[in-house]
Amino acid sequence: MFIDSHAHIDGPEFDADREEVIQRARDADVSAILNVGTGDPHDGSLERAVELAGKHRDIYTAIGIHPHDARLFDDRAEQRIIDLLQQRSRIIAWGEIGLDFHYDNSPRDVQMQVFRRQLELAKDSRLPVIIHTREAEVETIDILKSHSAGLSLAGIMHCFSGSMRLAQQALELGFLISFSGIVTFKKAEDLRAIARQVPLDRLLIETDCPFLSPVPFRGKRNEPAYVVEVARCLANIHSRKIEEMARITTENFTRLFKLELG
Ligand SMILES: [Zn+2]
Ligand SMILES: [Zn+2]
Repeated sequence: MFIDSHAHIDGPEFDADREEVIQRARDADVSAILNVGTGDPHDGSLERAVELAGKHRDIYTAIGIHPHDARLFDDRAEQRIIDLLQQRSRIIAWGEIGLDFHYDNSPRDVQMQVFRRQLELAKDSRLPVIIHTREAEVETIDILKSHSAGLSLAGIMHCFSGSMRLAQQALELGFLISFSGIVTFKKAEDLRAIARQVPLDRLLIETDCPFLSPVPFRGKRNEPAYVVEVARCLANIHSRKIEEMARITTENFTRLFKLELG
């Protein structure tokens, strides 16, 4: 059993064959998918993600405002999320939230402000957070640390591609570290060296599909079934069997979210 801890299959990339994609994941022993709702909170994109989970018992949802869309966050967006949380039980995480200073799709000060606000809201809702961070390591850790006082945060550093220092600090804060297809790329030696240092009980696997297809599917649209290749790569790195890595990452996921699968 594998779990894809981060996918985006509610989007238009999967409109033509979504059910087949979900079936292929099941056929590949992917027993659960955490679908992360992103996009403009005012155009129904969060509702779209929630509806998808409502239709499939092996799909869970996270909702939040991505750093790209931080400029669209306002009181109304906040209320939408809170209303959705109250209506549905299959929303298990707040995210993805964080900072992306690579694309800078929203002004950095707005990204930081919206990140802080959502961390507080997640704490109030007692939900784990899913963190997206790119070229903003210092600011991300500073903000996480300052919001970890009192009720401590739990969550996932998703699609990890940062430094060893970021990994260490995230581990110290109690976070799990999720690796995507990037870890399988030929040139990703440094990232594999970091993955080797992450304790087994903190590892997760994800696709972040439709992006970042793992080897040998690079260049094609990514989908949850391919998360098996990420598990295979991490199994090699940690000198384990793939079945063992599947079990370990599944246990880590179910422990974080207090789920019982099956
Ligand atoms: Zn992300
Ligand atoms: Zn994502």
